[in-house]
Amino acid sequence: MRFFDSHAHYDDRRFSNEFPGGVDAALRYVFSQGVTRICDVGASLRSSNEALGMADFYAGQEGYPSICASVGLHPCDALEVPDIMTADVLDEIRTLAAHPKAVAIGEIGLDYHWDEDHHDRQKTMFDLQLSLAEEVKKPVIIHDRDAHGDTCDILRAHPNATGILHSYSGSPEMARQLADKGWYISFSGPVTYKNAAKVKEACVIVPDELLLIETDAPYLPPVPHRGKMNHSGYLVHTAEIMAEIRGVTAAEIAELTYRNACRVFGLSDN
Ligand SMILES: [Zn+2]
Repeated sequence: MRFFDSHAHYDDRRFSNEFPGGVDAALRYVFSQGVTRICDVGASLRSSNEALGMADFYAGQEGYPSICASVGLHPCDALEVPDIMTADVLDEIRTLAAHPKAVAIGEIGLDYHWDEDHHDRQKTMFDLQLSLAEEVKKPVIIHDRDAHGDTCDILRAHPNATGILHSYSGSPEMARQLADKGWYISFSGPVTYKNAAKVKEACVIVPDELLLIETDAPYLPPVPHRGKMNHSGYLVHTAEIMAEIRGVTAAEIAELTYRNACRVFGLSDN
């Protein structure tokens, strides 16, 4: 079985501080577990730069996964950009997006769980980054937490945007509508949680060619590792549950999602 973890944050300080041996040991370990590709997802300018640096550093290194990166501002990080800096920050993302290892703009979107007061600012930054993705012709990686309605409204205003709804948490109906428009839908640890009936239902609906798997490591560990630090080696647990839900084998989920991740990111799948 080979896995493509379509969304992880190995630049996160938890890997350097808490994983025995740090990031390098974590990547070597997950490679030994069959994870041969990872998209390291930027959330701020700092992490976008670090994700690209890591992708360059591990390029062609034997015994490590091949790493690609996305660049962009997570809705919570976007709030730290003062109005007056917006154009400069977007220019910087545009420059980072031209890096050969940059395969997507993200993660961008809306998070009404952590931020209740600045929805308009979040929407503006989401909208601007979607326009940027359309301009540079890259897919986007979307973070939508407790903001399903506004996320869909803003996506409708960007008919040329394509990409991934990451760590999907919306309704089955919304999954169907997004899939009809060609959006990829990615499932993470929460699909393994007992109380995640709606997410499981959504996981059934997504067509084979639009299904993705991810960890969002170091966050969102699957059952039976809840409470621990997540890493891509735990993908197999998420794959097993997705396989059960869809009536296939975990190996089929691994291979299908691997090829889909290559397609959405514009990478060859060998
Ligand atoms: Zn993430």
